[in-house]
Amino acid sequence: MYPNQTLYIDGQFIAADGRETQPIINPANREVLGHLPHATTEDLQTALEAADRAFQSWKHSSPMERSAILRKVAQLTRDRAPEIARNMTLDQGKPLAESMGELISCADHADWHAEECRRIYGRIITPRSPDVRQMVLREPIGVCVAFTPWNFPYNQAIRKVAAAIGAGCTIVLKGPEDSPSAVMAIAQMFHDAGLPPGVLNLVWGDPPTISDYLIRSPISRKVSFTGSVPVGKQLAALAGAHMKRITMELGGHSPVIVCEDANIELAAKMLAKFKIRNAGQVCVSPTRFYVQRKVFDPFLEAFTDVLKNVKTGDGLAEGVEMGPLAHERRVPAISGFIDDALQHGGKVVLGGEPLPGNGFFFPPTVVVDIPDNSKLMQEEPFGPVAPLVPFDTIEEVTKRANSLPFGLSSYVFTNSLQTSTKLSNDLEVGMVNINHFGSALPETPFGGVKDSGIGSEGGSETFDGYLVTKFVTHV
Ligand code: NAD
Repeated sequence: MYPNQTLYIDGQFIAADGRETQPIINPANREVLGHLPHATTEDLQTALEAADRAFQSWKHSSPMERSAILRKVAQLTRDRAPEIARNMTLDQGKPLAESMGELISCADHADWHAEECRRIYGRIITPRSPDVRQMVLREPIGVCVAFTPWNFPYNQAIRKVAAAIGAGCTIVLKGPEDSPSAVMAIAQMFHDAGLPPGVLNLVWGDPPTISDYLIRSPISRKVSFTGSVPVGKQLAALAGAHMKRITMELGGHSPVIVCEDANIELAAKMLAKFKIRNAGQVCVSPTRFYVQRKVFDPFLEAFTDVLKNVKTGDGLAEGVEMGPLAHERRVPAISGFIDDALQHGGKVVLGGEPLPGNGFFFPPTVVVDIPDNSKLMQEEPFGPVAPLVPFDTIEEVTKRANSLPFGLSSYVFTNSLQTSTKLSNDLEVGMVNINHFGSALPETPFGGVKDSGIGSEGGSETFDGYLVTKFVTHV
């Protein structure tokens, strides 16, 4: 049975009880799984006040206590993974094996934060006079408000929640209304792990109404958002107007550069499998494929060969490799990219049209012969669509890769040390993956530059956005 979804405020699970609700839809078959209660304005204010009250004591909690709770959540995540993963596949659509993978890697994220939060250090600065002591303290920033998306419901939320709680902050989180169950499970696990009331609060509702209320409130001190660039810019502007710290993990349009000296067969296979992960609804998905002219045809053939055999279907069905798009609005959005590519002279060599049936299915799609000014080469498709274009020189492809306002991730396939060094220096991105996919581990920083965001999550940087610096000097 799909679990009942509630609000979680001040340690209480709060059911609809007359509040507005919205249906939760299974994207594989449009079945209504349940109803999600929307927070009222009073609920939002109660959540902020609870977080503010809880902060007065949580900020003084021992790192050992925070660490123990995060460790417990890591263990509960592993214990409950089969059930949470199944519910996530039901409301988000990704294949069950991918949901399980997300859960297990998130247990590692909770463990990593449990370890690192015991190592939040300040420093002593050598004074000009021996009578003076100069100290730099790092203190939790205060009440955080966070907004997380539907593509990796558990992952995107646990990164923010674990960083805030580990740093000694409290948090009001708005999860993804389209795929709520995994975030609801996070609230339940922190509750079961003994987190004091008010440290974590979970609300749902109309995203712009909630973000506007929470960001404007004088109680909140920090805003963290993962989602699209336009929404990120709106929230960052509002946060700026109220002088609030931000972490923004926004969209990208990750270039893939396949050089003629790479292992083409292997690169094509690896990239095809990576492309269909979460039906391409991944901010670091490979999205612009630049293939050196000499190896363009063999790469296209090997890449398409893998994609044409991908089994698409309900994520709970045996052997399914790619599920539906997460919600109905993504289907016309993807079709719009294909229409524009065709208008620009592009050729669809695989897929290209939504699959018939009740779910929101779009097949793996490969497009060639498109110019760099087509929508598919300019905007993040956020779906299982791969545009492939040829390039001639490394200088030329670097310029083309850097030509967009985004700078999240990038992928390079080459056997030349010189080329890999040059590209890792010259690509204007937050992450460079050379001959493998290695981003998004708990111990490594994840984040973008340019329009793709501000700040990092994970790695030893993970608490930076949740701490303020205080200088203390005395004689
Ligand atoms: P969207 O821009 O409407 O929403 C994206 C996410 O932001 C959703 O989770 C939504 O609930 C939230 N959101 C929207 N407006 C908000 C607001 N004013 N305040 C707070 N949260 C708000 O688009 P969509 O159709 O849901 O998703 C499509 C686009 O979103 C994609 O093209 C992709 O670029 C982006 N996206 C990015 C990520 C990521 O991991 N960076 C994840 C999901 C979606």
